Amino acid sequence: MLFCGVCHSDIHQIKNEWDNTIYPCVPGHEVVGRVRRAGAAVTRHAVGDLVGVGCMIDSCRQCEPCLAGDENYCEGPNSWLATYNGPMIPASKAPGGKNTYARDNTFGGYSNVLVVQEDFALKIPANLRPEVAAPILCAGVTTYSPMKHWGVKQGDRVGIIGFGGLGDMAAKIALAMGAEVTLFTTTKEKLEEAGRLGATGVLESDSSALESLQGKFDFLLSTIPQKHDINPYIPLLKRDKTLCIVGALEPMEGVNNQAVAFHRRNVAGSLIGSLQETQEVLDFCARHDIGPDIELINVDQINEAVKRAIDGDVRFRSVINMASIGSVDAGATVEDAAIFVSA
Ligand code: NDP
Repeated sequence: MLFCGVCHSDIHQIKNEWDNTIYPCVPGHEVVGRVRRAGAAVTRHAVGDLVGVGCMIDSCRQCEPCLAGDENYCEGPNSWLATYNGPMIPASKAPGGKNTYARDNTFGGYSNVLVVQEDFALKIPANLRPEVAAPILCAGVTTYSPMKHWGVKQGDRVGIIGFGGLGDMAAKIALAMGAEVTLFTTTKEKLEEAGRLGATGVLESDSSALESLQGKFDFLLSTIPQKHDINPYIPLLKRDKTLCIVGALEPMEGVNNQAVAFHRRNVAGSLIGSLQETQEVLDFCARHDIGPDIELINVDQINEAVKRAIDGDVRFRSVINMASIGSVDAGATVEDAAIFVSA
């Protein structure tokens, strides 16, 4: 394992903010490493390949979403198997107590070894630096997938709400898609940083700016990491257009349906992205020469990095250099799994 991004989801999970954390918890789902060992049946990857692993390491592969290539919406009894924290639906909540993956917990990327089914390891394009590729495996695909799904295209006006790890990737991807981008932020210092990207920065508290932007947007993406009032943003959409929430994965306060219904607008959500979309966004970033702004840290700086992320102080993603863990001869058995990745 070479690098792992520090996603705000890791922080929710560490602190049990989604009320589902299984301890001991080893977070990390923005992972880049080299294949150290491959199972006998592996054909997609070879020892020495640079590969990435995002939020999933397996899915049921039999349900309608899985067969349609939407593994991230797996409807199997335990849903998909997360890179850490086990199956999305634990056996205790699955129909008939099913445990299709034969495990209750998984350990993620703040580590130097990972075992993953070969289909769930993505290829890292040669011209993407591995430390820059890591956050694309979650922050990148989580923002790329809804923009692709709702058809963001050249000349569209796109608003990104919240300029953190996801917001940084969202803005860069939307700009590369040819959109005109506005970043809505609570942090004054980030207005200038938005400008540096080629986007327009708007302070969330600037009600006159919001007023002047009514009916102007083709797509809005909220990346704010907790429940918040989205009503000030709905009027910014054009008729028939969508505000997608990816940040808050929890109950939200009420929506003013007058603002939604009167212009047939949509309020939606989206969860990470499929395997195909993850490969696509890696290739897209390589092709457009874009990637996250990162701060490389050693593993012993993780507590500080978490605190700084909560304070909104990171620009824009901390990435752990796994070389700082030191070498471990992982004697794990590969069994029938596909790829064993290690430093
Ligand atoms: P970051 O901490 O990197 O960025 C969040 C940004 O939101 C902050 O920088 C800040 O930007 C803004 N913000 C506005 N209000 C608040 C607030 N009250 N507290 C903290 N930040 C605030 O987080 P990420 O970008 O890594 O993740 C964002 C959210 O997306 C998380 O909740 C994460 O769990 C979720 N997520 C969802 C996924 C999905 O599949 N739907 C996948 C991955 C992550 P500013 O200074 O510009 O206001």
